[in-house]
Amino acid sequence: MKKIPEKLGRYEAYEDIKTALGNAVYDSLTTEEFESSWQNMVDQYLLYDNEWLQELYRNRHHWVPAYVKDTFWAGMSTTQRSESMNSFFDGYVNSKTTLRLFIEQYENALRDKVEKENIADFHSFKSTVPCITHYDIEKQFQLVYTNSKFQEFQKELTRKMYCYSTFIKREGAIEVYQVTEDIKIGDKRKDIVYGILLNEEEFEVKCYCHHFEFRGILCRHVLCLLTQKKVKEVPLRYILERWKKNIKRKHNFIRCTYSGMEDTPVAKRFDMLCNTFYEVAKAGAISDESCNVLVEAIHNLKIQFSTNSDNSTRDLHVQEGPSWDGKNKTILNPVAVRSRGRPPTLRKENKVDRKSREKMAREKRQKRKKKKTILRYFFFV
Ligand SMILES: [Zn+2]
Repeated sequence: MKKIPEKLGRYEAYEDIKTALGNAVYDSLTTEEFESSWQNMVDQYLLYDNEWLQELYRNRHHWVPAYVKDTFWAGMSTTQRSESMNSFFDGYVNSKTTLRLFIEQYENALRDKVEKENIADFHSFKSTVPCITHYDIEKQFQLVYTNSKFQEFQKELTRKMYCYSTFIKREGAIEVYQVTEDIKIGDKRKDIVYGILLNEEEFEVKCYCHHFEFRGILCRHVLCLLTQKKVKEVPLRYILERWKKNIKRKHNFIRCTYSGMEDTPVAKRFDMLCNTFYEVAKAGAISDESCNVLVEAIHNLKIQFSTNSDNSTRDLHVQEGPSWDGKNKTILNPVAVRSRGRPPTLRKENKVDRKSREKMAREKRQKRKKKKTILRYFFFV
């Protein structure tokens, strides 16, 4: 969409085309709406010969929100994802980075990520974002979500004030509602109507804005309906594990050779368990029968070990998190965390230079572990 001025700027009705294109892409709640708006735009402005638009249309299933927003992307759009990945490696690698240096810098990027998350998790446990309403649902999310995800939830809850719901009809166990939202675009206000399906028996709720499916956060429309119906608690399926503050994310378990974290007991144990499971997996892979037996056994183990997982995971954070086992200074003064405000170029030079200087000191230790960690990268990826 950033290429619109370049690709369509030569048309006389450029401004109108730009608006029509934006409306078709961003305002279409369903694929049918998108198809209809797109076709109207092409017809009205005689854009039949524009190859760029034809190409965009051919690939519509991969980028137009109406097609992709019922798939979970953790809220990332294509450009946001690219920005996110660039940001992840920004300051660590550049076009001249060798493969060998890349691996070292990958570790540094990972270390910073782990440190940042540990600090964020620590704050989520240590401090609580206050509720803005007296709804029990808000308390439910406040208890389990990280502070930043809870704030995202609160943002939706706040926007609920611009919505009101209307009962439309009942079809068996399913109730159909419409939620009208008063939105402001520039100086203009307009009402947008969203359809919501609610199955009270199964407690399933689906809104046509697909906010939950796309971002993993219940939308203002659903919250409007649930609070109106005085629902006190949402089922666990609407509380995503990934946003919980007591979740250890995958990269926390990867052993790295960077200083300060390599002896994390959790990572060490995880590494040891992976090696042990590898042998078991080799034995299980011999035949379908042994594979099925092993899968069943692992399933039982999962049940056995998940019984107290919430409590034990929280304990892991408190007792064995790499950043706060008696080293409070690391938490209170996170010097290793990158600042978003500094110019990328400056950041790049500083990071690379600094890491290169540290490289020599680490080299001896890394040699010993290099082979193992490379395997871990691929496992992680
Ligand atoms: Zn919605």
